[in-house]
Amino acid sequence: VRTSADLSSCDALVLPGGESTTQLQFLKEGGLFESIREFAAAEHPVFGTCAGAILLASEVENPNQDSLRLMDMTVLRNAYGRQLASDVVQGASKLPAHEKSLEMVFIRAPIIERVGSGVEVLAEYEGKPTLVRKGNILASTFHPELTSDYAVHQYFLNLVNVRDTEASSVSAR
Ligand code: GLN
Repeated sequence: VRTSADLSSCDALVLPGGESTTQLQFLKEGGLFESIREFAAAEHPVFGTCAGAILLASEVENPNQDSLRLMDMTVLRNAYGRQLASDVVQGASKLPAHEKSLEMVFIRAPIIERVGSGVEVLAEYEGKPTLVRKGNILASTFHPELTSDYAVHQYFLNLVNVRDTEASSVSAR
């Protein structure tokens, strides 16, 4: 998705990892910043991983940075520091069959320091939320695409499918 026109043909959107500062600049230059906010307001599922989660947060620290503000949470960028910059860990989750161990790949990951009311914590590591959801918005501080287990992908696809079913039942009425 490079333009607002591209986005208009999508059912759902993934905001990938990378550098949130650079991504933010491109989103603003190309007009996608506002288009994504409208896309989310129209209840389309949006999933942000790592830098994508930073873009979704309502508050970004270390340093302060603007964001789409689609998820009521405070994130601290690059919070695991340099020596733990990249790590693969197992954490607790609420995903089916992954209650005790969900693999999480962190790459200069942020930490979610605070979540607002109504934000559901679906996974955590060392007492900090790592996968959170509110309505159609999902955010992870880790990279599910670097794991061979599709549990998180499946969870997001279920959000997309549920929305499709609801939308078709509304249009059938
Ligand atoms: N450190 C990056 C940032 O602050 C995020 C890294 C990532 O997406 N893996 O934007």
